[in-house]
Amino acid sequence: MIQGIGAAAGVAIGKAFVLPAWEWDVPDRRMDKVDLAAEFERLYEGIRTSRTEIEVMKNEVKETVGAEESSIFDAHLAILEDPVFMSEIRGIIERQYKAAEVAVKEAIDHFVTMFDLLDDEYMKERALDIKDVGNRLLKHLLGTPDITLPADTQPYILVARELSPSQLVHMNPNNVLGMVTMAGGKTSHSAIMARALGIPLVSGVEHKLAEPLKTGDLLIVDGDAGLLYVEPDQEAVDRYTEVAEGLRKRKEQLQLLAAVEAVTKDGVQFRLAGNISSVKDLEQALKNGAEGAGLFRTEFLYMDRATFPSEEEQFEIYRQVAEKAGGHSVVIRTLDIGGDKQLEYFALPEEDNPFLGYRAIRISLDSKEIFKTQLKAILRASMYGHLKIMLPMISSLEEVRQAKEILSEAKRELDERSIAYNDHIEIGVMIEVPAAAAIADLLAGEADFFSIGTNDLVQYVLAVDRMNETIAHLYQPFHPAVLRMLRQAVSAAQDAGIPVSVCGELAGDEKAIPIWLHLGVRDLSMSPQVLLRVKHRILNAEASTGKEAGAACYRLATAADIDAELTRFAETCILQKR
Ligand code: PEP
Ligand code: MG
Repeated sequence: MIQGIGAAAGVAIGKAFVLPAWEWDVPDRRMDKVDLAAEFERLYEGIRTSRTEIEVMKNEVKETVGAEESSIFDAHLAILEDPVFMSEIRGIIERQYKAAEVAVKEAIDHFVTMFDLLDDEYMKERALDIKDVGNRLLKHLLGTPDITLPADTQPYILVARELSPSQLVHMNPNNVLGMVTMAGGKTSHSAIMARALGIPLVSGVEHKLAEPLKTGDLLIVDGDAGLLYVEPDQEAVDRYTEVAEGLRKRKEQLQLLAAVEAVTKDGVQFRLAGNISSVKDLEQALKNGAEGAGLFRTEFLYMDRATFPSEEEQFEIYRQVAEKAGGHSVVIRTLDIGGDKQLEYFALPEEDNPFLGYRAIRISLDSKEIFKTQLKAILRASMYGHLKIMLPMISSLEEVRQAKEILSEAKRELDERSIAYNDHIEIGVMIEVPAAAAIADLLAGEADFFSIGTNDLVQYVLAVDRMNETIAHLYQPFHPAVLRMLRQAVSAAQDAGIPVSVCGELAGDEKAIPIWLHLGVRDLSMSPQVLLRVKHRILNAEASTGKEAGAACYRLATAADIDAELTRFAETCILQKR
C-alpha cells in the first residue's frame, strides 16, 4: 500500500494503462541566418495551430464538464501569448540560429526547471501547464501524432507521470475507472477536472513506488484516503470491491432523493438551489433536484470571446434559464470580474491587490453602458420566468442606490423601445465584504433580498487570500469572526423582513447545517454536484438538536472547537440515518 495524495474522491479497482511520457527527440538543428524569417513563420504557424486546438478543447470541456473547468485552458492560451516565454523562444532562434523546435524545447526546460526549484506547490503545478502547452507546440513543429488513449478496451486505471487537462479532454470518462499520477497535487488542473468528472485520483506517488507501474498491473485507487495498492491481495480486493459497490449504490440512492423535499426529520424545510454558470449547469442542477438557481455567475458569458456579449446574446441565455427553471427563481448575479477573473478584451489595470481592487460592482458602476446592457437583457428575459438581479461585492449603500438608478435608466430605455419587462423585478445584495455585513441593517432598507457569499466573506473577514495555497490552513469558514458576520447579516435581513440565502461554498458543506438551523437560514444555493449529499444530511438531521449544536458553536472560541462540535452533530446524523 502506498500513501499518496487523494486528489479526487472515490474508489476504483482495475488494470493499469500506463500512458507513455511525452518525451521528444529534438535533434539540435541550426539554420543559416537567411532562413530566420521562415523559421519564425514556422513557429508562428505552430502557435496558431496550437491556439486553435486549445480553443476547441476549451469548448469541448465547456460542453461536457462545465464553464469553470473550461477556464483552465485560458491559462494555456495565456502561456501562448506570454511575452517572457515567447521572447525566450524567439531569442534562442534569433541569437543562436537554432531551429524553432529546439528553441521551444530549451525554453520549456528552462521554465520548468525554474518553477520546480520553487518551494511552492502552486508554481510547480503551473510548470505542468507550461509543459503541456510547450509539448503541444513541439508536436506541431515536429509533426508527431497525438498520444492516444485506448479507445474500445475494457475500462482501465490511467497511469501517467503527470496528466495534462488536454489529455483528459480526449479520454472517454466511461472507460477510465480511476487515475494515478506520479507528480501533481490537489490544486493541479487535472485534479480539478478529475473532481468535476467524478473520477478518483491519487497523485504524488513517484518516490514511493519500488518499481515503475506497468500496463496490466492490478491497482486499487482510493482517492478518499490517497492510497494506491499495486497487485493487491485478495483480501484488499474484496474489501474495496465492497466499498466501491457501496459508493455506487449510494450514488444511485442519492439520485432517488432528487424528487424528495429537503425536510429534517422533525419537519424543518430547506430550499436547495444550484450555483450555475450556464444553461447546461442549470439542467444538471435541476436533474439533482435543485429548486432553481440561487447564483448564476454570469461572468462566464463574458469570457472566452473577443468582445462584450451584446444585449441580444445575453437576453437569449437569460431567457433560456428563466424558461428552463420551470417556475423556480433564478438569481442572476451581475458581472463579477476582476480579482482572479479577467477578460481578454477589457484591460484591467495591473494591481498589487486585485481582490481589494477594481472588481465586480465597482467596474459595473464605472462602465455604466456595459452594466446597463446586462440589466436590459435581464429585464427583457424577466418576462419568461422568475428572474432576480443580484449585485456582487457591495460595500456601501451608495453602490446599491447607484445600481438601482442605472436599473431605472435601463427600464426607461426599454420603455422607449416599447419592450416589456417585469417592473417589480427583485434586486438583491451579496453580503461578501465585511462592510456589507456590518451595515446589513442599512442595506436591508434598499435590497429585496440578501445572499451571503461566504467564499469572499471568509477571505475578507480573515484577511486570507482564497487563492493562496501557503495560507490555505488559515482560510477557516468556521472561524468565530465569520460566524458573527453571518449572524449579523441574517439578523438584519430577518428584522427587515427580507429573504436571506447563502450561496458560497459553505452552503454546500453538510457540516454547516446546524449553523443554518440556529440562525434561521432556510435557503441554500450550492454546486449541483454536492446538492444531493446536502439534502441527504438534512433528511437525516434532527432540527431541534441541530439548532442546539448551532447555538453551541456561537459559544465556542476557536474554529477547531466549532469544527469539532459540528463534526459531533454530523456523526449523530450518520448514526441515526434513515
Ligand atoms: C462568494 O464569494 O461566496 C461567491 C459565491 O462568489 P464567487 O465565488 O463567485 O466570488
Ligand atoms: Mg464572491
